[in-house]
Amino acid sequence: MDKKGIEKVVSILAKSNNIVVVTGAGISTEAGVPDFRGENGIYRKLGENRVLSILNINYFNSHPDEFYDFYRQYFTFPKVDPGKAHRVLADMEKKGWIKAVVTQNIDGLHQAAGSRKVVAIHGNAESFVCPGRKCRQVYGVDYLQQFPHSAPTCAKCGSILKPDVVLFGEQIQNYMEASELIMAAKTLIVIGSSLTVYPLAGFVKEFSTFYQDLIIINQGYTQLDHAALVKIDGGHTGDTLEEIYRQLTLLKS
Ligand code: NAD
Ligand code: ZN
Repeated sequence: MDKKGIEKVVSILAKSNNIVVVTGAGISTEAGVPDFRGENGIYRKLGENRVLSILNINYFNSHPDEFYDFYRQYFTFPKVDPGKAHRVLADMEKKGWIKAVVTQNIDGLHQAAGSRKVVAIHGNAESFVCPGRKCRQVYGVDYLQQFPHSAPTCAKCGSILKPDVVLFGEQIQNYMEASELIMAAKTLIVIGSSLTVYPLAGFVKEFSTFYQDLIIINQGYTQLDHAALVKIDGGHTGDTLEEIYRQLTLLKS
């Protein structure tokens, strides 16, 4: 564990009254959901270009059956419980220490851990939405099982359902809310993101040009390591957050 790094983080957080957390796929790996760019991620297995060419709104529109073959294989996340890191963040929110979590994740684990203010900008992998203008029916992931070899269609109007996740070529969800929360924060903690996916990486970059209190907890390099006041790399992220929580509790009591 990075004791010095943790102490620095604790002293920054103890003084801050507006802390926002940004999370990426790396916060969920310890709970059992693989990331994309890490060691076991699909970018390594399949190559980034192949992934980008399929998880793309144009490909979805033109080849829905093939899109869903891929989606079923790589995007049906294992049903797992939130990890320690998710639970500690929920506890920090309850104490009033953190204001919100802005997440790129689509696994719903922050919400399952009890975090209330979660701004999910890439949607939710468990929901499938009918694009029909007058329909907009939403289905759960179990509905997909009725269509093992083709794209699922809406029971009401027959349209092809779209996963409620933001594909490449689409606008993120909750853009204004995410950007305003980040820009208004005094301290930003990035956890488990390589900060390569825009526009979120852009929001963090903009934050870091105006303020100093950027903390990054990530295994491996991120695009903004140079701008961080503290970077914690390595170690078990759940344990690191638990230790930060423990020390902050002592300081604040
Ligand atoms: P990423 O895959 O680009 O980066 C994840 C980072 O987390 C990597 O740098 C990796 O080394 C690091 N990491 C892995 N395990 C870690 C741990 N235990 N502690 C700390 N860091 C760890 O992820 P991203 O930047 O979030 O971008 C990928 C995109 O794919 C996102 O937009 C997201 O929507 C989607 N995605 C989501 C999930 C999920 O919901 N769990 C999983 C895979 C991909
Ligand atoms: Zn419909």
